[in-house]
Amino acid sequence: AFLASIADRDQKVQAFMHVEGANAKAVAAVIDAKRKSGAKLGALAGVPIAIKDVLCTKGIPTTCSSKILEGFVPPYDATVVARLKAADAILIGKTNMDEFAMGSSTENSAYKTTRNPWDPERIPGGSSGGSAAAVAACLAPVSLGTDTGGSIRQPASLCGIVGIKPTYGRVSRYGMIAFASSLDQIGPFTHDVYDNALLMEIISGFDPHDATSVNQPVPAYTKTLNDKVEGLRIGVPKEFFGEGLDSEVEAAIRTALKEYEKLGAKLIDVSLPHSSYAVSVYYIVATAEASSNLARFDGMHYGHRTKQKADLIGTYAKSRGEAFGKEVQRRIMLGTYALSSGYKDAYYLKALKVRRLIKNDFDAAFEKCDVIMGPTAPTAAFKKGEKSDNPLAMYLSDIYTISCNLAGIAGLSIPCGFTKTNLPIGLQLLSPPFDEERMLRVARMYE
Ligand code: GLN
Repeated sequence: AFLASIADRDQKVQAFMHVEGANAKAVAAVIDAKRKSGAKLGALAGVPIAIKDVLCTKGIPTTCSSKILEGFVPPYDATVVARLKAADAILIGKTNMDEFAMGSSTENSAYKTTRNPWDPERIPGGSSGGSAAAVAACLAPVSLGTDTGGSIRQPASLCGIVGIKPTYGRVSRYGMIAFASSLDQIGPFTHDVYDNALLMEIISGFDPHDATSVNQPVPAYTKTLNDKVEGLRIGVPKEFFGEGLDSEVEAAIRTALKEYEKLGAKLIDVSLPHSSYAVSVYYIVATAEASSNLARFDGMHYGHRTKQKADLIGTYAKSRGEAFGKEVQRRIMLGTYALSSGYKDAYYLKALKVRRLIKNDFDAAFEKCDVIMGPTAPTAAFKKGEKSDNPLAMYLSDIYTISCNLAGIAGLSIPCGFTKTNLPIGLQLLSPPFDEERMLRVARMYE
């Protein structure tokens, strides 16, 4: 049924980079045979899942929506993909994204721009826009994205679905093509909180292949999901309600907060005084790490190699110049500059210090509250082309999501209403590290 929906509607939505037609059917048949034989089935038996094209999938092209990885077929599965397969899920396809996950609209894909299923003139958000749109348009029941500065929560918000950015270290990044390794996390997109909790149970946990994955037991998120949250204290940071926040978005968030009050929660004013530095710090740390991570795309090991004749260094430069898009090149240059001798103290090291202050702000706020709430994004979905030639305006789409990644804490976006023009609005929940269990329960209360 989902393959038929993709055939029918993906022309319009443009969510997929690659669809696993016959292979998906073959896997479904194997699972069906298993069911008939009475064998024990996994928790996701028969559930089709769409995967962001930044995650390696054995035998299936993985492009990061970049020309530089054209033709690259990974010889192994990312740990999250292996875990989904072990749970008997069916990989249905790979989804479009901003090239190397750099962007907030999927307009930076080297191949195509995904459309927002609520309004095809608008973007679905990004960088995991294909995964969000696939679920919102019912082309897949669930999907995976990645979030380095908001790339799960912002598209979830703009597409009217649930998306979680787990605590740094909760989910293995092995097999995720790195953008900014100290910020990247993988997480699910779903229609409701239950499905999200279920996927989190499957993909979370220690992995010897990822030294930053944390060896802590994974709670049975689905089991406790409907337990009452006693004495819930919600922190409302004043910095999330300032200039630039659309009035309709603000009204929807305030209404949601009132709902929580009715459900017995207490609203507490908190402050995150270093919030205004988050975007600046992010664009130093993320570009610095990206410039280093992307050095491996040299035109030699995989993907595109220039056809022009050149010596070794010239081949690197031409291959990279031809195949990296503009935004990726901009970030490599910014990051290389921030790391260069003579500038690294002024930029990179300074940014790391402010990053610590941002983390300290959250530690202080979480002494007074259990969860922080505010908008996920300052506006609802914007029009295709509206911000694509203004990188700064685009960077501000993540003003409320970025500090979560810098602090390594967990965050989630849940639908909380619509604008007058029928565009979804998302409420963001932020929780202390490894407190996903309570955060999911708090989100569930609102459904
Ligand atoms: N929009 C942000 C960026 O362009 C965040 C992207 C992400 O989370 N992958 O870097």
